[in-house]
Amino acid sequence: MPPHPAGSPSGSLAAGLAGGTQGPGRLRPLLGTVLTALADGATARGGPLPAGGPEAVARRVREACTPVLPDTGTGAEEALRTLVRALAEGAADPADPRCTAHLQCPPLAAAVAADLAAGVLNPSLDSWDQAPSATALEAETTAVLAALVYPHQGPGSQGPVHHAPDALITTGGTESNQLALLLAREHAAHPPLQVVCGANAHHSIHRAAWLLGLPEPVTVDTPAGIVDPGELARTLEHLPRRSTLVVATAGTTDTGAIDPLPQIGRIAEAYGAALHIDAAYGGPLLFSDREAPKLDGLTAAASVTLDLHKLGWQPVAAGLLAVPDTAALRPLDHRADYLNAADDTEAGMPDVLGRSLRTSRRPDVLKIAVTLRALGRDGIGRLVDTVCDQAHTFADLIEQEPGLTLHRRPAISTVLFRPADATDHQVAAIRRTLLDQGRAVLGRARADGRLWLKATLLNPATRPEDLQQLLDLITSAPRTEGTTDR
Ligand SMILES: *Cc1c(COP(=O)(O)O)cnc(C)c1O
Repeated sequence: MPPHPAGSPSGSLAAGLAGGTQGPGRLRPLLGTVLTALADGATARGGPLPAGGPEAVARRVREACTPVLPDTGTGAEEALRTLVRALAEGAADPADPRCTAHLQCPPLAAAVAADLAAGVLNPSLDSWDQAPSATALEAETTAVLAALVYPHQGPGSQGPVHHAPDALITTGGTESNQLALLLAREHAAHPPLQVVCGANAHHSIHRAAWLLGLPEPVTVDTPAGIVDPGELARTLEHLPRRSTLVVATAGTTDTGAIDPLPQIGRIAEAYGAALHIDAAYGGPLLFSDREAPKLDGLTAAASVTLDLHKLGWQPVAAGLLAVPDTAALRPLDHRADYLNAADDTEAGMPDVLGRSLRTSRRPDVLKIAVTLRALGRDGIGRLVDTVCDQAHTFADLIEQEPGLTLHRRPAISTVLFRPADATDHQVAAIRRTLLDQGRAVLGRARADGRLWLKATLLNPATRPEDLQQLLDLITSAPRTEGTTDR
């Protein structure tokens, strides 16, 4: 390494850098500060979220963070201690068993530790010369994850192009769905591409169609929460003849329901439509031998969305878009001379600019790769089984409670329920009261024309007694007609 002038004019700044051989030594005491602040904040909160509602939280944060931009800085120790503590104290913490509203998972410590290294090294995956090892690690890891989704499309190598499954790393289901619709648009023989999806499809499908200038998606009613194959066939029958993309969902955000993928695949094929499967939630069932059969039919899709920051226990962001053949990604190819000059590519430098619509891009692959290796397929599969089992236990407890109604047996790890005789207003008020009191974070979902409380179980450490306590909070909640409405 060329010697750096240690006492250069930027000496005090250099003393604060995280990288290089000296960086870890500088980070160590700061990490101690951060970890202490996290623990202190969690203790001060004392529950799944801060009590008092948005105004109380905003006031405490304002007090802690003022001045946001002081004329003279307070130093790294003080800033970390103050702001990390304030953030932790005011957080909704998915590691608490009573924080179970959304597809917000409690991340694994190993993944978070890996993310720290990603921040230190700061590789940017828009060119090989900013990220030599991260480029290679991403290629190795995405090949394995793509093969998990498309196990039968083995790497064939006729000619220069390898027709193997591939996967892009994205910021999540929203970006993956956008890319899926973009690729379908670019491959459409008879534009404009018409998207057809269930009423149960994620809102990002509609936004992506809007963003990409596609016609408004045709929506198939899903009164039972999943796409009915007969209804889908009737819809396709009546469409004008042009390129069509059917979007199915494996794990809806509201109920965790999985569309009948094999039948949908057959119908899409019969009508010459392409298929995209949004398995943002359900995709990681593939890690579990027991749960994977729920995703039979996945391989018929031209693209599959899958999130590892839901089931997968990664801190955000950890999304994937898998395709059966890397050639499908070619519409994303893009040249910028300073990043992937043609002669550099010819000379053998990997061209990574076409693996995203972003330019600067974090190595989210590192935490994913660490998790895959640390836990193995078995270990991740067991976590998946555990939260699916919890959902069944929770549903059992609800069924045993005469004052509560269960919506359906869980398909993955989402459970909808409600007090048997409550109005929708009362259901909404119960949820807000628990949020205000800082006692529980439950979600809400509309199904069968009614409002339900939603628990999305993603915490493998949750015990049956935690689930019972959560239910006790609901059954003992005072029944108000929306008096805590804001
Ligand atoms: C969460 C989710 C998305 C959006 O994913 P983000 O990671 O939040 O962008 C899309 N589709 C489904 C079915 C989801 O559950």
